[in-house]
Amino acid sequence: MNPSDIEFDLRHIWHPYTSMTHPLPTYPVVSATGVELVLSDGRKLIDGMSSWWAAIHGYNHPVLNEAAKSQIDKMSHVMFGGITHPPAVELCKQLVAMTPDSLECVFLADSGSVAVEVALKMALQYWQAKGKKRQRFLTLRHGYHGDTFGAMSVCDPDNSMHNLYKGYLPNHLFADAPQCQFGDKWQPEDIDSFKRLLLQYHDEIAAVVLEPIVQGAGGMRIYHPEYLRQVRQLCDEYQILLIADEIATGFGRTGKLFACEHAQIEPDILCLGKALTGGYMTLSATLTTRHVAETISQGEAGCFMHGPTFMGNPLACAVASANLKLLSDSPWQQHIQSIETQLKAELIPLRSHSAVENVRILGAIGVVEMKLPVDVASLQRHFVQHGVWIRPFGRLIYLMPPYIIQPEQLSRLTNAITNSVS
Ligand SMILES: *Cc1c(COP(=O)(O)O)cnc(C)c1O
Repeated sequence: MNPSDIEFDLRHIWHPYTSMTHPLPTYPVVSATGVELVLSDGRKLIDGMSSWWAAIHGYNHPVLNEAAKSQIDKMSHVMFGGITHPPAVELCKQLVAMTPDSLECVFLADSGSVAVEVALKMALQYWQAKGKKRQRFLTLRHGYHGDTFGAMSVCDPDNSMHNLYKGYLPNHLFADAPQCQFGDKWQPEDIDSFKRLLLQYHDEIAAVVLEPIVQGAGGMRIYHPEYLRQVRQLCDEYQILLIADEIATGFGRTGKLFACEHAQIEPDILCLGKALTGGYMTLSATLTTRHVAETISQGEAGCFMHGPTFMGNPLACAVASANLKLLSDSPWQQHIQSIETQLKAELIPLRSHSAVENVRILGAIGVVEMKLPVDVASLQRHFVQHGVWIRPFGRLIYLMPPYIIQPEQLSRLTNAITNSVS
């Protein structure tokens, strides 16, 4: 890319969470293959981010390319109202088969945030159909569920955008985030705040919504499965729906196909996204039980009130379907296990470093939490100079590489982090 295009980008194009007056530098990527991004000057960077949890099999994958090419020659898109097509049916068959048995009904949506909107709307319509006024959601501090209004209203109230939109966002309930970490001894009082809110407000609550086991963009926190197990029990006790947002954790990232499996629980509504198409394009899915689906359908509206223009996009479904087949045919458990072992060996020693607050590892997720906020632009420059792509935020430097990463490539990533900390 020539300098004037970079200049145009800075002047005219918004990137995620950026300013038009003080834009952060962007790096021009012209292609990507396997676990490498190629910059326009020819430099190659080992990717530690999987493009935000998505590119689990790496970039430019021949099987996914073929799925897209062969579908594009049949049809790229056709409306989903009154029409169905093989890619959607095939994908939904796979989703129903790989998720818990109780989740039978699939809604295909455009992005993770929309999958969460759909889940919230399902819960609201469910209670409306039952003739009960339950319109609040109970969630956890440090949660992240997306950037649209409904999703935003259940994000962490302090470290997100609540203040900006005060008065506009509905007033939901926030339990203290779990303190007890994955692998620690369970502390029964960890669930107290959640339990108290549930006790006090249960007849107003439509659903609990949370990220199982790993709270992602709200702090990369990895919590004790017992917390999730007790949330499920309490939801059952008070007959409240449980929405599991597995948009980040789904499809193997934590070492289980879905993070709920760490606690051996099943949600009533499950949100999937990010890795669904292997990072090729945007697509998400919200699954629910036959009971919830039928209750909604018997309500006042007589149907579920949502239907995006590009719902069930055949191209995205075809790639997603190939991606899920690729995943189930691969020894992904072995890959995640060896990534976890290596991340532990190479990052945990940083715990003794004076600038480091904590190091957390689960599956193919490695998090180094610093004591102070990092300078994103200069750290990113450091990483690019070391031939790796790592994008920190806040006090967090973290890795979630493609599952196909080789040990020496992963070491390049962990070495770059170790060098940046020291
Ligand atoms: C990324 C993410 C979302 C939002 O997904 P988008 O595709 O960015 O809209 C929602 N929930 C969780 C847990 C996420 O990690």
